[in-house]
Amino acid sequence: MQGGGHGPASRQFGLGTDQVLEAEVVTADGKVITANPCSNTDIYWAIRGGGPGNYGVVTKTVIKAYPMVNVQAQHVAIATLSANTNLNDKGYAGYGQWSINQPTPLFGTFTAGYVHGFYTFDKTVSYAQSTFASTLQKLLPYNGTSLYISVSYVSYPDYWSFYNTESGVEPPVGSANSALGSRLFSRRAVQEDTAGLRSMLDVIAGTPDEYTANNFELVSGGANFLKSDDYSGLNPAWRISYFNHIVARGWGPTATQADEDAVQHDITYVKTAAMKEQAPETGVYMNEGDRLDPDYEEDFYGEHYERLSSIKAVVDPSGGFYCPTCVGSDQWKEDSTGRLCKA
Ligand SMILES: Cc1cc2nc3c(=O)[nH]c(=O)nc-3n(C[C@H](O)[C@H](O)[C@H](O)COP(=O)(O)OP(=O)(O)OC[C@H]3O[C@@H](n4cnc5c(N)ncnc54)[C@H](O)[C@@H]3O)c2cc1C
Repeated sequence: MQGGGHGPASRQFGLGTDQVLEAEVVTADGKVITANPCSNTDIYWAIRGGGPGNYGVVTKTVIKAYPMVNVQAQHVAIATLSANTNLNDKGYAGYGQWSINQPTPLFGTFTAGYVHGFYTFDKTVSYAQSTFASTLQKLLPYNGTSLYISVSYVSYPDYWSFYNTESGVEPPVGSANSALGSRLFSRRAVQEDTAGLRSMLDVIAGTPDEYTANNFELVSGGANFLKSDDYSGLNPAWRISYFNHIVARGWGPTATQADEDAVQHDITYVKTAAMKEQAPETGVYMNEGDRLDPDYEEDFYGEHYERLSSIKAVVDPSGGFYCPTCVGSDQWKEDSTGRLCKA
């Protein structure tokens, strides 16, 4: 919530951070305050997207609730994808995954391919089918020849039956044996420069022996485009980006430090850098960003960095709250043992 917070419902209703109406916060000087649009407005602005753990300790929030909706879930599995229709404009949101070679199958026995679960809210299955029809038309000629394509739909009467079946299932705990980077993508970055997009995809696909995993999160657009940049401390890149794309590589138990460094270097300076080159006008979702991003100030916070820094200087003048990519962390240096010294 304090960094963003996306889910299958965030296209329809907005990010987690946009639902916060009020928060109880323990400030750096030990006071318990209420932050809302009328009181302590700077802290209220900063804790909604400006980065977690940095302006106070949030002990309670009042969040907006919405009437229950039905959900239509679409499941697609194919070997490659080449289509131009903007499904997000039609109301679709969801998550996809693709790889040219990964250690475990994406689906069936395929270790190369593309799978997604996309969702529409408060609609019907026939609506979901008709809006996907033009994309499917482009794919079907390859079915059974060069591609395996499977499309299916499931209808849920309410959000929670959908969530508990498809989304809220416990994900595996993140592994320490991997490096990842990500980028938010605007319409321009994917539709106006297809040659650039093609070469970026080649770079982030990697070579088969790199076992690169790519995750595609169609979680923005919709309600997120209706709020102004200034609504909260959230990275303004979210207000123009339809999806987030994560690229990740791991290393095995016998990897040396040099192997790990090589993977991390590839993620930071080759693969994530290629995404940034394709979408320079956007930024990065800090909760799923590269923790070693050399440009984290600009990438994680965008044009809000300066205002967040001013708020940080007032609400936490001694810099008691710290994390390596948080606003104001440039005031500190970590030594080789992890101790902090004033920069
Ligand atoms: C497997 C996995 C799946 C994920 N899936 C999603 C996803 O679908 N959507 C999405 O948006 N993100 C996702 N994320 C990223 C996730 O949103 C972030 O990791 C988020 O920060 C988790 O918050 P937490 O409070 O659980 O984590 P923590 O690690 O406990 O906290 C994160 C930061 O917030 C600070 N903090 C924690 N509590 C407070 C508080 N009360 N007040 C002030 N600061 C606080 C901590 O100091 C720390 O800096 C995923 C991460 C993983 C590992």
